[in-house]
Amino acid sequence: MTAASPPEVLRAPLVVEFPFTRSLGPVQSAFLTGLRERVVLGVKTADGTVMVPPVEYDPVTAEEIRELVEVAPTGTVTTFAWNDHPRPHQPLDTPFAWVLVRLDGAGTALLHALDAPGPDAVRTGMRVRIRWAAERVGAITDIACFEPYDGPASPAREPAPHDGSFADPVTGIIAAARLDYTYSPGRAQTAYINALAERRTVGERCPSCHKVYVPPRGACPTCGVATTDRVEVGPVGTVTTFCIVNIKAKNLDIEVPYVYAHIALDGAGLALHGRIGGIPYDQVRMGLRVEPVWTEGGRYPDHYRPTGEPDADYDAYKELI
Ligand SMILES: [Zn+2]
Repeated sequence: MTAASPPEVLRAPLVVEFPFTRSLGPVQSAFLTGLRERVVLGVKTADGTVMVPPVEYDPVTAEEIRELVEVAPTGTVTTFAWNDHPRPHQPLDTPFAWVLVRLDGAGTALLHALDAPGPDAVRTGMRVRIRWAAERVGAITDIACFEPYDGPASPAREPAPHDGSFADPVTGIIAAARLDYTYSPGRAQTAYINALAERRTVGERCPSCHKVYVPPRGACPTCGVATTDRVEVGPVGTVTTFCIVNIKAKNLDIEVPYVYAHIALDGAGLALHGRIGGIPYDQVRMGLRVEPVWTEGGRYPDHYRPTGEPDADYDAYKELI
């Protein structure tokens, strides 16, 4: 390695996803079931405002709201943002506008997509109408999108009362939450991760207070200065505090109960997290001296196990708990 070549900073794709299950309650159930039937429902608050999409509680008085009304499938764009690069699972796979649409009869606006040939074709105040999805299941995606509408302006009309009852109502939904992004850990953590590949643990020392941060974040949060001085710590460390885990996590093949601990590696100025193995869970204690156990191909220690040395003196780690 030459001093002149800056180390390459790591980047990696990360995806966090989980199914979010919610029961709907009477108002959202009526709203989503209505969409399935091509009926748009809102709620009327105590002061007469019609809110679409509906809410269950009055935003001013916090009173429960149950008065449903039907509004028109046509409306007016109140604001928009052009989306040049649609991402997977967005409403349209060609460039489109995100719009807030106040449907005729409503006092609030609904967020959705507008299918338009380009940003010049979109303006605040333009008239639009709902394009319904061919197959509807009782979800906001039953509105495929909005489209420009130059038919006759809907006469200002009172939203019609609606009792919200439909055959076979939708009572719950499962929304797939997904965050799909590229993560770069930065210069300091890149060095940390690269060292882990060699089964070494590298922190950075603050030039002002001399605390060694592991994992390093690139700066000392106390002194507000960059940490540039790399220091190898461990591999042996001390359990400073711990908990016993009794709940089995999905996708994690570890028998419960097990111990998860804060471990201060020798030379580090703060503790990192790790699982403790090689000892019955009810014999783990503060001050226990431990060392990392690596598995073939592991990118970080699988767990830590007792070294057999005498326990550390409390004074030696009391600032690291
Ligand atoms: Zn410092």
